[in-house]
Amino acid sequence: MKVLVINSGSSSIKYQVFDMKDETLLAKGLVERIGIEGSKITHTPIGGEKITKEVSIPDHKVGIKLLIEALLDDEHGVIKDLSEIKAVGHRVVHGGEKFSGSVLITDEVMVALRENIELAPLHNPPNIWGIEACQELMPNIPHIGVFDTAFHATLPDYAYMYALPYEYYEKYKIRRYGFHGTSHRYVSQRAAEIIGKSIEELKIITLHMGNGVSFAAVKNGKSIETTMGFTPLEGMVMGTRSGDIDPAIVTYLMDKENLTSKEVYNILNKKSGLLGLSGISNDMRDIQKEKAKGNSRARIAIEVFVHRAKKYIGAYAAIMGGLDALVFTAGIGENDELIRRDVCHGLEFLGIEFNDDVNNRVRAEEAILSKPSSRVKVLLVPTNEELMIARDTKEIVDRLDK
Ligand code: ADP
Repeated sequence: MKVLVINSGSSSIKYQVFDMKDETLLAKGLVERIGIEGSKITHTPIGGEKITKEVSIPDHKVGIKLLIEALLDDEHGVIKDLSEIKAVGHRVVHGGEKFSGSVLITDEVMVALRENIELAPLHNPPNIWGIEACQELMPNIPHIGVFDTAFHATLPDYAYMYALPYEYYEKYKIRRYGFHGTSHRYVSQRAAEIIGKSIEELKIITLHMGNGVSFAAVKNGKSIETTMGFTPLEGMVMGTRSGDIDPAIVTYLMDKENLTSKEVYNILNKKSGLLGLSGISNDMRDIQKEKAKGNSRARIAIEVFVHRAKKYIGAYAAIMGGLDALVFTAGIGENDELIRRDVCHGLEFLGIEFNDDVNNRVRAEEAILSKPSSRVKVLLVPTNEELMIARDTKEIVDRLDK
């Protein structure tokens, strides 16, 4: 069964095609700058040559049409006929309180997705455009929704409630949802497989460190706490997001700088985090380079990042009543050995014996970063959200066929 995976953002569509017979990736690509000048599609058949086509892409439907053409292309394509694609798996950012797992997208599901726009005004609309365009162009196959929030649906109420007047939860559904769920689910499952134990008996902390950063406490295979909250702004320091701050800073800044709520929101989401602290970049590579040259703001940005990471690891070990594995993933987690080292050094009291030799050697590949004698295993697991979406899609389609 061939499955198309679609991750539709506001101005881009990422896609991958898997043959689920053996989970091989056949092709991947990116449609960029939709609705903006300079739009293009980049298509890569695995093992083949990457091709780029610059063409006007006014909307998502044209983008999807182009990626279908690329998949069917005589020279660079990976299918002969569109009917070879048996299902499409769609990444959806916000499932709200309704979705605790992946679902077949029906008319009712679309209504619920539209209801969730209020909770994710930036993310859900482009997800919906992607689904609508795919349904129109591939009407006779199942479309499956896989939610970023779903893995965190197991958070207990005392972890997802904020200590605000209760009516705001009832009126506006203000609570912790958590994001990056597909990534936390994938890497925690892989970690259990690598360790060779059932996930049901493990206490794992997953550290998704990309441009967006979030951690999850995964106890017995279930997410019981996570750093992102009502929106992806809470928690860890990120590329451009502040993560945790005293909420009083918001009103203080509004008064002092005469800012609107939108302006403060923009500062906290787009101008803070590593970028705001360092004044250099939101990219950890640039900051590490400057730190090595002795730049004090680069140093402070990294130290704030590492300090907060340690704080959460301690907190999550405490709420799980112990720790068996710590898992690094995403851009920074997979590639930056200095961050991994700085986060793990000093955690010996938790039972971590970090293996610096292995850590210095590995990048973007599965590895065990702790010494064999270490009670807590430290792992590097490259994330693969697309494969997880393809697996969920296959599982649901298999069930439909029965
Ligand atoms: P996104 O959340 O946009 O998917 P990624 O998972 O690609 O982001 O992560 C982007 C982050 O990963 C950036 O901060 C980037 O600096 C960092 N990163 C990628 N490669 C490296 C590297 N070789 N060394 C250090 N950081 C890296």
